[in-house]
Amino acid sequence: MNEDIRQDSDSAKQVGLSRRSFLKMCGISAIALAGSAMVYKRKELTGTVWQLDPEKCIQCGRCATACVLTPSAVKCVHCFARCGYCDLCSGYFVQKPVALDTGAENQLCPTGALKRTFIEDPYFQYTIDEKLCIGCGRCVKGCADFGNGSLFLQIRHSRCKQCNECAIAVACPASAFKRVPVTNPYLMKTDVPGGGKA
Ligand code: SF4
Ligand code: SF4
Ligand code: SF4
Repeated sequence: MNEDIRQDSDSAKQVGLSRRSFLKMCGISAIALAGSAMVYKRKELTGTVWQLDPEKCIQCGRCATACVLTPSAVKCVHCFARCGYCDLCSGYFVQKPVALDTGAENQLCPTGALKRTFIEDPYFQYTIDEKLCIGCGRCVKGCADFGNGSLFLQIRHSRCKQCNECAIAVACPASAFKRVPVTNPYLMKTDVPGGGKA
């Protein structure tokens, strides 16, 4: 995904797309990708599937520990259309980092799943390596507390076992889990702050 976005960014520059236009396009693409990935699972699933509502989530950490799978089927996702592409990302950095660089001591993520890539001064792009993400929500909390909420958690249906009773739903203190139609299995944050849709 990181490589895809980098290549898309190069292509966008070649055809003269503005940075803002490209980022907006990325957001739409990311959501479309999530939907297309689900097409594969839709062949096997019917009715409804479990999903968590990112607007209710309070980032308690149980998504990482309560799932029957290790690592959890819950992963962090990024709404690019919301993201400000800042230098100091509050989802990436601990509070009062020693330096704004990729040193482990400066990062919130315990597994290094959040990648920081220089785009153009002063912008860095933040992407998630899902193989490394354990769904702990630390980056989500940092982004929600001090950023614009562009990072959030979702059950990834390519991993979820669709248990009859989701163990995280039982443990969730925010009642954020519900069953959603398999035809619309993600509850994505697509609203752009200040109004409108991505
Ligand atoms: S268990 Fe509920 S509140 Fe806790 S991180 Fe998961 S969705 Fe958010
Ligand atoms: S901080 Fe937690 S939720 Fe965020 S990318 Fe890292 S492992 Fe995933
Ligand atoms: S339904 Fe099962 S596998 Fe899926 S998120 Fe819940 S506990 Fe994990």
